[in-house]
Amino acid sequence: PIVFLLDVLPADAVIDDVDLAARITPAGDGSGVLSVFDLGPARGDGIFETIGVVGRHPQSVEAHLDRLTESAAILDLPAPNHAQWRLAIARAIAELPDVDQSAVRLVVTRGSGGRPTAWISATPADGFPERENGIEVVLLDRGLPSDVQERSPWLLAGAKTLSYAVNMAALREAHRRGADDVLFVSSDGFVLEGPTSTVVVRIDGTFVTPPPSSGILPGTTQLALWAHLEEQGLPHEYRMLTPEDVLDAEAAWLLSSVRLAAPVRAVDGRPLPMDAGLTARINDALLSRTD
Ligand code: PLP
Repeated sequence: PIVFLLDVLPADAVIDDVDLAARITPAGDGSGVLSVFDLGPARGDGIFETIGVVGRHPQSVEAHLDRLTESAAILDLPAPNHAQWRLAIARAIAELPDVDQSAVRLVVTRGSGGRPTAWISATPADGFPERENGIEVVLLDRGLPSDVQERSPWLLAGAKTLSYAVNMAALREAHRRGADDVLFVSSDGFVLEGPTSTVVVRIDGTFVTPPPSSGILPGTTQLALWAHLEEQGLPHEYRMLTPEDVLDAEAAWLLSSVRLAAPVRAVDGRPLPMDAGLTARINDALLSRTD
């Protein structure tokens, strides 16, 4: 792994690249750089982004930095300086070995003593047989209503926080049930998202995903897919979905920045059609992004 620590700059600080570079320091493989009192590890109090890298091209950086900014606002953390993060991303990627795909992770914690801690890491990614083989998912109750964002903003719905213990526990529950992944359902019966992914289904030829207002994380991969569908003149929309909608769909996928589109093969053991050709075209489009 490649790690750099960032000396956090105010969002509006305008300084030249030389000064910016001085505030991004190599931290070896990242071992031994964090205080045990840092509120990131101590409380999961912080935010992150995971960006897919194809060759040496980081994908949808603007969308990721915008979401990092939104997460910071929701958690009352200082707004990130985009120029500093762009330079950090470039420096981390420059250190990667020659591989097809990698992942870059941006992290900001509440730190300690009132000063946030920030770092970036880059790691080569493994292969993704799921893109062809598909995944089996289980429906799990998230226990929160679909209007949680409006009703209980302190639950931080819509922010990509470091508190992923619940998401990881849900994945372990899926594995216990012999499945690969999870589709969360709201307490009022709507399909939400995966623990690390956005759900997209195809119904009567229209691509559908739940609206971000339902308390889910707005996905950057889903946004990139929407841009592609727009370009191709293919119908797509935001709409609330029930588990029955997913079970009756022509196809369904879980979308995320590094794995990209994984077709859903079964929901709670009930098989779903997989459209191999369409999935390949979606992943080709997602892999060939230029932004
Ligand atoms: N929803 C959740 C809860 C996630 O953690 C993620 C990504 O990790 C996503 C959706 C998909 O977002 P993206 O496509 O930007 O990776």
